[in-house]
Amino acid sequence: MKQPELLYEGKAKQLFRTEDDDVVLMHYKDTATAFNNIKKATIAGKGVLNNKISAIIFGCLNEAGVPTHYIRRLNDRDQLCRRVEIIPLEIIVRNIVAGSLAKRLGLEEGFKPSNTIYDICYKSDALGDPLINDHHAVALGVVTYDELKQIYSMTARINEVLKSLFDRINITLVDFKIEFGRTSDGRIVLADEISPDTCRLWDKTTKERLDRDRFRRDMGRVREAYEVILDRLEALKK
Ligand code: UDP
Repeated sequence: MKQPELLYEGKAKQLFRTEDDDVVLMHYKDTATAFNNIKKATIAGKGVLNNKISAIIFGCLNEAGVPTHYIRRLNDRDQLCRRVEIIPLEIIVRNIVAGSLAKRLGLEEGFKPSNTIYDICYKSDALGDPLINDHHAVALGVVTYDELKQIYSMTARINEVLKSLFDRINITLVDFKIEFGRTSDGRIVLADEISPDTCRLWDKTTKERLDRDRFRRDMGRVREAYEVILDRLEALKK
């Protein structure tokens, strides 16, 4: 059989062409990175866990009527997605203050603000994904103000769906990063992945971190933490 054509290789995933020009195969690798790629490691089985976790989450979002690129999971490491052109912005949603925001604002990690905080970063490895604002994004020519309005409204809805999903498995959704893309017919849809690599997830009872911070901060038991998330999400379906 002919080897499928690799369209793109990222830090944690590969994208392959399929027979359908509008559909890509997304393959999850075991690579873990942090601090703009300075820290790298392989965590055996992480790709399988993230593929399954992201598939469950995107399935829920599809069911809730949020337009996403996700079609279906094929096997342990692969899923089929609609082909999109990624908008080079990372949209970060923060329900609880943690990580870089705690440092920037001099607040304790775990502080719960009365509002939801939205940050945007410009996806650029060369610049180190700088924090930008709406006007910068429009000036860069990557989105219009109208598209940003649409992105923020979709993001608020995604946060509601995810908060209630994680609530049901006794997890606080502290913050998360999402990305959007444009389909060939010009629609904006949620793309990329949502997993413990892209979210901060704290157990409500023990306050234990069950996400990529375990890797960033050398806390150990990274795979085990991702397994807890998958097990609890899978138990919901039963
Ligand atoms: N995040 C991500 N990819 C990035 C940057 C951030 O998935 O390139 C996620 C991160 O896992 C966390 C949230 O976005 O859930 C907020 O991250 P923060 O800005 O606090 O960055 P960090 O503390 O990771 O530097």
